[in-house]
Amino acid sequence: MPAARGSGGLTAPAALRYLSHMRIVLLGAPGSGKGTQAQRLVARFGVPQISTGDLLRSAVARGTELGLKAKAAMDAGALVSDDIVIGIIRERLGQMDVAGGYILDGFPRNLAQARSLASMLALIGQPLDAVVLFNVDYAEIARRIAGRRTCPNCGTIFNVHDAATPGITHCTNCAAAPLLTQRPDDNEQTVARRLAVYDEQTRPLIEHYRAQGLLRSVDAQGAVDDVTARLVAVLAPPKPAAKRAAPAKRKVAAKRKASAKRKVAAPRKRAAKRRSATKRKGAASRKSTASRKSAPKRKATRERKPARKSARPRARKRARL
Ligand code: AMP
Repeated sequence: MPAARGSGGLTAPAALRYLSHMRIVLLGAPGSGKGTQAQRLVARFGVPQISTGDLLRSAVARGTELGLKAKAAMDAGALVSDDIVIGIIRERLGQMDVAGGYILDGFPRNLAQARSLASMLALIGQPLDAVVLFNVDYAEIARRIAGRRTCPNCGTIFNVHDAATPGITHCTNCAAAPLLTQRPDDNEQTVARRLAVYDEQTRPLIEHYRAQGLLRSVDAQGAVDDVTARLVAVLAPPKPAAKRAAPAKRKVAAKRKASAKRKVAAPRKRAAKRRSATKRKGAASRKSTASRKSAPKRKATRERKPARKSARPRARKRARL
């Protein structure tokens, strides 16, 4: 049975190979759904997610030196210093599991981080493949952040406002179904600060990556499944050039075929014309011959009639005898 075709006209296994080997940045305001969608891509394509927010929260929870340094900025909704996050990313990108591709979620968040990332990747000759901008309006963001809940065990993100999980309280992903928690920075005051930081420091990255031809945009509003489908579609590889040129090529080929056909057909047509002319002539001459031949017959018929007429007087003569 042929493999099903999906993203960019690729077969499902080819799309899987392609998407699992991409180096992608997810760009968007806090609460735009980057984390949720990154988890979907991990589950679907096996591509690892690198979330600086998750790495920092884990460092805070473990009480490491780095965690202690980062905590104050995180609680205030500010950015953690560039040297800390760049250090985290440098270390993470050196690990084996991300050698084939990854999704960066929450990094870079300003121009300095974007430039550091570019030089790190240039050193190993593995530049980014795509940067996807998540478009969501701020009213929706506020609603999403207020409803966001996370599993303390597996890290799965849920939302109490999601139509698929209304009012959810416990993880449906872990066997123990632990109680979901709310992030300490998901409160109204901190969210306002985080959105201001996004506008000021992260938003300029849109133009930065657009200028490099890396930016793709996705409408990140609506049902989670619909956003995933749109995200996978924008990540699909561009159609091969040969395929794009195919209709034009087909037109040229069809024109050539038609003109070749005409060339072959013309002498044939002429020959057929000659044949039919000859046939007509032949028929005409046969007709005239036939009419010539049939003429005496008609004469004979005409001549025979008076003969019968002349027989009648004889018969009458005989009757009289
Ligand atoms: P996130 O989970 O991506 O919303 O990040 C939570 C918090 O972690 C942010 O509000 C920042 O304080 C911090 N953080 C995450 N990523 C970065 C980054 N790339 N640069 C600076 N701070 C970050």
